[in-house]
Amino acid sequence: MLTSFSVGGKTLDSLDLKILLVTKGIKVDYAVYERFCGTRRLNPDPLTCNCLILPDGTIVHITDVAMHMSYLKNAISLESLRNIRYALHIRTPFRLVVSHGGSAVLLHNGEQVTEVSFPPASRFYEQKTSGGLPYLGNAVLQGRDFLSFQCLWPCDYAKAGYPCQFCYSGGVYERLARKRKPDPPVPTPQDVAEITDYAVNKERTAKHIQLTGGSTMNPQAECHIIRKILAQIDSLVGLQNIPGEVLVYTTPPSDPETVDQVFEAGASRIACSLEVWSEDLARTITPGKWKFSGRERCLNCLKYIARKYGPNKACSSFVVGIEPAESYLEGAEYLARDGIVPIASIWIPFGRPVMGRIAVPGLDYYRKVKEGLAEIYAKYGIVPPGSTGLNVCLCRDIWNHRSEITACCPHGPAKVSNGPA
Ligand code: SF4
Repeated sequence: MLTSFSVGGKTLDSLDLKILLVTKGIKVDYAVYERFCGTRRLNPDPLTCNCLILPDGTIVHITDVAMHMSYLKNAISLESLRNIRYALHIRTPFRLVVSHGGSAVLLHNGEQVTEVSFPPASRFYEQKTSGGLPYLGNAVLQGRDFLSFQCLWPCDYAKAGYPCQFCYSGGVYERLARKRKPDPPVPTPQDVAEITDYAVNKERTAKHIQLTGGSTMNPQAECHIIRKILAQIDSLVGLQNIPGEVLVYTTPPSDPETVDQVFEAGASRIACSLEVWSEDLARTITPGKWKFSGRERCLNCLKYIARKYGPNKACSSFVVGIEPAESYLEGAEYLARDGIVPIASIWIPFGRPVMGRIAVPGLDYYRKVKEGLAEIYAKYGIVPPGSTGLNVCLCRDIWNHRSEITACCPHGPAKVSNGPA
């Protein structure tokens, strides 16, 4: 059951609150880090991908605005004064403080919203692989049970000068290439296997694994690299010891059958991300994807997976907040009809303007997406990845509460189907 909160005179459910917190950020009092650092998974270093947990269990990413501002100041002094304009817009009404009783409390304009908690303490970010690669900066623990590798191979599209506008990693690769500097090191298959072994077998902080990287120009995409990584994970960790799923993101290969090797190597699902459904906006916001791999190749690959491996095996991620809700939902339903999972990742606007803006839509926009997606998931039997939710994605939260959400929809509860129509 979603919890309700009173925020600035309005009643919000926990998904509305998650959206506001993710899009507006939070100013975290340093006392919160001092109080909880040793006993819970919370660290002032933004690379640790902190999250808080609302009373009903909803996971919410913490963008600590104060930490982010100091990061931006450094980036600005090195990069361009243009971004100051955007940095000055970072204001948040949300603050995280320690109460007199010693609990963590979320405030909105100084008024208490709710107590929150954090995941159990972890030593994950103190570790290095046998090759000396620090876990910090190369992998993150998300929510209660997800291990994500965010950059396992560089982004050729960004290096060619065509990064997606919202993508932080793409911006980094573009900048380095422009200055003719080398790519940052990426984890080897052995590094990935050791990190996975620690999180899954030793510390047991992860049940699900997510492998992600940039987009490459290779017509095979990254399937051959992923196959090697999965083989190494299997040999060190044992794929059978991963209790949840192995979600793999890849550029769509030119021949869709190339993905077969990834499923054979142990992937549970494969995602090829469109990011934006509106073709006009996609051309501008995701110029590399549009120019090099293109929409048709992506859809061919997703449909091939859905046809051969069945519903809920192909996924496509979208950045929610950068295109009209109607166009996102149109794309989500188009894919869901074929059993393809539309993933909803909330746009975090700090420091990376899209179409020249960092202003996010109002809550009505996200409510439309929440209700529309709940109906689509229920109607077509779509099951998004994960179990208890991820930091920035909304899809699993919506799925977990789909009956409740659709019951409140203006046209009543959706008819729940067991599979795609
Ligand atoms: S293609 Fe992927 S990694 Fe490259 S800029 Fe776009 S979202 Fe980022």
